[in-house]
Amino acid sequence: MNSNSQKLTPGQVILRHQAKAPVDVTSIANELGINVWEMVLPEGISGKIFKDPLNGGESGYSIGVNKSEWYLRKRFTLAHEIAHFILHRDQIGDELTDDAMYRSGLPTREEAQANRLAADILMPAHLILRLKASGCDSPSKMADALQVSEEAMKIRLSYL
Ligand SMILES: [Zn+2]
Repeated sequence: MNSNSQKLTPGQVILRHQAKAPVDVTSIANELGINVWEMVLPEGISGKIFKDPLNGGESGYSIGVNKSEWYLRKRFTLAHEIAHFILHRDQIGDELTDDAMYRSGLPTREEAQANRLAADILMPAHLILRLKASGCDSPSKMADALQVSEEAMKIRLSYL
């Protein structure tokens, strides 16, 4: 991270990486000072964010995603953990672990906030509108372009 990017807010960092589809979610994490690892995690655990003074990024945190899960799933998990970092950093403690339903022990409201921000990171309105304008107008085509699951795309389109 250079001194220039440190002045950016998380929202500005995210926007910088939303210039084109698909959104480079790993670069967003890195620029926020978080290192990202594909890890062997127990079945049913999708990912976690944890204090990692030795191997973490400049923020002192790392995110681990379950390496055995599906690629699109890993992208959403990474975005969900980034959202916890931005929204709920004071509630992470040493480690926050999300199961396959994105339940970490935080209140349901916080999980819903994290899912909502994750969807907005991966599927920003301006990219959806640009895809539509270019003729990419079905949920499955948009999901392909944005590298998200069709299910996630349909949910995102429901409140566009
Ligand atoms: Zn969560």
